[in-house]
Amino acid sequence: MARKIEIDNMVTVGSLATELDLPATKLITELFKNGIMVTINEKIDIDTASILVDELGLEVELAPRQIPASEISKPTQSQRQNPKLEPRPPVVAVMGHVDHGKTSLLDKIRSSNVVAGEAGGITQHISAYQVERKDRKITFLDTPGHEAFAAIREHGAVLTDLAIIVVAADDGLKPQTLEAIRFATKAGVKMVFAANKIDKEGANIDRLKQQLAEQNLLPEDWGGQTIVVPVSAKTGEGVDKLLDMVLLVADLEGLEADSHGPAEGLVIEAHMEKGLGPVATAMIQQGVLNQGDFLVAGSVYAKVKVLNDSRGQEIKSAGPSTPVQISGFKSLPEFGDSFHVVANEKEAKAQSMANVKSDAHSSNMTSTEMLRIISRRTTVDELKVLIKADVQGSLASVIDSIKSIDNDEISTRIVGSGVGNINENDVRTAAASGAIIYGFNLTLPPATKRLATENNVSVRLFKIIYELLDDIRAELENMLSPELVTTELGTLKVKGIFKTTKTEVIAGGEVLKGTLRSPAKARVIRDKQEIAKVEVTGLKRGPQDASEVQEGELCGIDLVTENRLQLEEGDRLELYTEELKDRKL
Ligand code: GDP
Repeated sequence: MARKIEIDNMVTVGSLATELDLPATKLITELFKNGIMVTINEKIDIDTASILVDELGLEVELAPRQIPASEISKPTQSQRQNPKLEPRPPVVAVMGHVDHGKTSLLDKIRSSNVVAGEAGGITQHISAYQVERKDRKITFLDTPGHEAFAAIREHGAVLTDLAIIVVAADDGLKPQTLEAIRFATKAGVKMVFAANKIDKEGANIDRLKQQLAEQNLLPEDWGGQTIVVPVSAKTGEGVDKLLDMVLLVADLEGLEADSHGPAEGLVIEAHMEKGLGPVATAMIQQGVLNQGDFLVAGSVYAKVKVLNDSRGQEIKSAGPSTPVQISGFKSLPEFGDSFHVVANEKEAKAQSMANVKSDAHSSNMTSTEMLRIISRRTTVDELKVLIKADVQGSLASVIDSIKSIDNDEISTRIVGSGVGNINENDVRTAAASGAIIYGFNLTLPPATKRLATENNVSVRLFKIIYELLDDIRAELENMLSPELVTTELGTLKVKGIFKTTKTEVIAGGEVLKGTLRSPAKARVIRDKQEIAKVEVTGLKRGPQDASEVQEGELCGIDLVTENRLQLEEGDRLELYTEELKDRKL
């Protein structure tokens, strides 16, 4: 009968070890074997702990400890009383194939349409900002690719109202365009197509429209509903029209939010900043956020100390669809955490604490992920990687994107990850586990570089997420066992046997179909049954050696056999080649 032990929903490795009467190192080692790097003070969730207990073969059943109701203070989130709904700016993501002009278009829009006041002062990490068009605001998410978009979606929030899909008119729809279309369609996000680079000679809007029509996206002027705006991010032509279309679609969607109550929103980036401590970029979805408000984001809380707009200028308050930078967090919130304002610090503390207790997902590793790893351990090859990035948002989107590359045969195991410079500890971890270190938007300090070289650890730095992912994909493809590709050549009907030894047959016959080549392999078929497999080492047309013989021709054929083969007149030889081919993911 299994012993029953009550533990908290989230439990540190140390206290679990105490409960189980085991040395903590034993648990840490077992977790490590499963690719989970934890220290004694880190928390795992109860499901992970249960799997761990099973893996260790312990006769123990873990049950969640009951938390007295008085200790839990339920979040007041979304309990809006009589919200006063008003139109709000649309939140727009720009997506599209690499090099089609996403960055240029965003730059153009930003430089010519910044919200009243001077341009500039755009702080480095702001990944969302607002522009103004005809006295109305549009919020742009400057995501490092649709990975980030997908990551935000995966975290359960629909942040984006509309996607501008940039397609270079001289290049047409490309794989990442199609991917962007799929994303937007799946997410139920409206699309506006920017047919970019119309200043270029090869630009062909009609061809682009044709391609869209083939994707069931019939352009408006062809009788459909898909909006296509020709633009040039270089000259600026069409950009205002594009923004007008965005506003039009927003109007049709009837986007509204409560613009008076307490704020709710989503953390879209978080990082440490010198002098300010943890700083988050957040998007307000409902209500108004004021300086001095208390807010809870997952298991952390903040008293909003400095509230900045996307240009880095201090503001007193911000309403729906506004991207802001918030300082005053007690610790770093997580990318994708939703936040809401509460009445006071006591409430903020209580709610964030309750989230630590109840939020199983705040652990780096959830039970499903652990199960996945365990079930894969024996069947799948793994590429081990350690990921570092400049900010939490990029890190989350890199990690989420990496997970999406896995397939049944091969996977990436993340042995470590974090925000900030690649340090010597990372190199040691990578060396111990045989991992490649990937750095996103980082540089490599010389001392770390030296240590990496000494330890034969490969460190790869990227500034573009696609390139990082392509590199991982290439590594994974190298690990895939090559595929055996069989190509059928043709069939020979045996008409005479000239010589038979223990390992060789020389015969003659007629090519019934196809073109025979040598060297090749052949199946020997008698009465529709395969009786042997042989190697074809030579072909002869008359007395001459031939490299190939065609259908209808007579030829001689040299075969090498494993065992003595008594070939007979009327047997058929089916010739084929086998080739090992590298596989793609
Ligand atoms: P992204 O990868 O989609 O962000 O593309 P970029 O904005 O980096 O643009 C890729 C290249 O196309 C750059 O060399 C740009 O200067 C160029 N480009 C972008 N938009 C235009 C345009 O409207 N006209 C022309 N001629 N070049 C453009």
